[in-house]
Amino acid sequence: MEIKTLQVGPIGTNCYILCDEQAKACAVIDPGGEAERIAAAVKATGCALKKILLTHGHYDHTGGVLGLLDAFPPLAVYIHRADLEMPLPQLFPLNSEMGSLPGFSGVNFYGEGDHISVGGLDVQVLHTPGHSEGSVTLRCGDILFCGDTLFAGSCGRTDFPGGSMKKIMASLKRLGELPGDLRVLPGHMEPSTLDRERRSNPYLLQAMRGGM
Ligand SMILES: [Zn+2]
Repeated sequence: MEIKTLQVGPIGTNCYILCDEQAKACAVIDPGGEAERIAAAVKATGCALKKILLTHGHYDHTGGVLGLLDAFPPLAVYIHRADLEMPLPQLFPLNSEMGSLPGFSGVNFYGEGDHISVGGLDVQVLHTPGHSEGSVTLRCGDILFCGDTLFAGSCGRTDFPGGSMKKIMASLKRLGELPGDLRVLPGHMEPSTLDRERRSNPYLLQAMRGGM
């Protein structure tokens, strides 16, 4: 397994290219913008892009989807249903923009307990709502792609439509209780580890104590 990180778009969203070098296959997680730059990075891996996996539907995580669909047809796009059907196009643009794409048959929905393959890699879907109703955390081996649920030292905001402080606390508790020192690759800012977050992240600590 190999992971390449790019910071893309106006607010530096972490876009991850998850590669199975043996199978020569890869997926892009959260192409938030700058599709040409992501496409070039994908080509440089030597792996064929098969899937786009979205941690949630916000524009800063989805802004490069259409450009990649254009550059790498046919490409399967996965999102949690609750985030595609959000009605605010400025915040959740995907649903409205997909319609403009000729020949695109639509996205695939994934949710709690689903497994998505990337070459020979297995990606498990954990539904972790709170930042948005359709937020998911993607686990591949000892790596958690947390989207905007868990950040190094912080967590995602909950004041957008579909956000819920109560739900993100439950999601953080769930992540905090996962066994092992998993690597945390968040949707923004620097990576971390679960042990470090369990020691020092005030939101995670509060969630694990069971409070708000
Ligand atoms: Zn977000």
